[in-house]
Amino acid sequence: MSVSDIIEQIEMGGSASTGDVAELLSVRSEDDISRLFSAAASVRDRFFGKKVFMYGFVYFSTHCRNNCAFCYYRRTNDLPRYRKTKEEVLALSASLKDAGINLVDLTMGEDPFMCANDYEEFLDITRTIKDEIDISVMASPGAVPSGSFVKFKEAGTDWFACYQETYNRELFNKLRLEQNFDNRLSQKIWAREAGILAEDGIMVGLGESLKDRADSIIKMGSLGCEQIRAMTFVPQKGTPMEKMKPSRPIDELIAIAVMRLIYPDRLIPASLDVEGIAGLKSRLDAGANVITSIVPPHQDLAGVAQHELDIENGHRSVAHVMHLLDEMGKKAASNTEYESLLKKLKEQQPVVG
Ligand code: SF4
Repeated sequence: MSVSDIIEQIEMGGSASTGDVAELLSVRSEDDISRLFSAAASVRDRFFGKKVFMYGFVYFSTHCRNNCAFCYYRRTNDLPRYRKTKEEVLALSASLKDAGINLVDLTMGEDPFMCANDYEEFLDITRTIKDEIDISVMASPGAVPSGSFVKFKEAGTDWFACYQETYNRELFNKLRLEQNFDNRLSQKIWAREAGILAEDGIMVGLGESLKDRADSIIKMGSLGCEQIRAMTFVPQKGTPMEKMKPSRPIDELIAIAVMRLIYPDRLIPASLDVEGIAGLKSRLDAGANVITSIVPPHQDLAGVAQHELDIENGHRSVAHVMHLLDEMGKKAASNTEYESLLKKLKEQQPVVG
């Protein structure tokens, strides 16, 4: 089947096999790429209109007990690290809400201090943000034990993010060293069973084949995660993958468009963490509808893939992103609109037990 036929089949409500998805991921001609992006953007517009959701990124601790082969903040990389205080995190969250951000993404490495006593400190910060600032919270603490999800729910966690990176087990074992594939996969299941929305993600260009990438997209979506993402792997200094050739930026855009086509109702991020603000428009044009990794300047906060790009110059700030959205004819959703979407998504989750 041609690329156009596969797109048409999906648009008509038909399913897509792994082979079809791999075929879409392999598009190279300008005509096919533009057909794919315009189909993805119109599906997105049909489900979400011109509204875009805005997520603030608070990477509040860069300490980590893990040693992922791709990560700048892996345990054995000898770096200056930071851990923000509760007061600093609260002040940042309040300023993000005041600026019109819909959600605060509380992200950390697996910081032993924050994981201690069953995530006491992390949950205390979450609870206080919910009580005092009243903004939606995504928890990105790494992999946690199954029994802890009830506590995350009780603290008011709206979302739990844990990226598998790849569903190829062999590749996973080479990337997420000393970690368990099934335990990581189960994070999304356990979160949803506890009544928390879940986000999963893959990295593009880690050495996976197109079939692996297609398989990962299908598996990630079929887990039921309400938000799914694809991000380009960026080689990091001081890691075993430092010298790896980076993937072409278009591969991430194609993955976004394919995810949108086969999972039209999911939230799909346009991350500013790979190409900075320059990559925003292309990701929205490919079908994304959430802007993530908005980072306020002058707070000594890092990004993940690009730990400095566009942060201190303010280009990843709320004001700058809002201005660009205006130019693109899009509109940032209000907190009321975002909360009503979350309510609907939570009501749609399967009831367990
Ligand atoms: S990816 Fe996350 S868990 Fe892995 S080393 Fe980096 S911060 Fe730690």
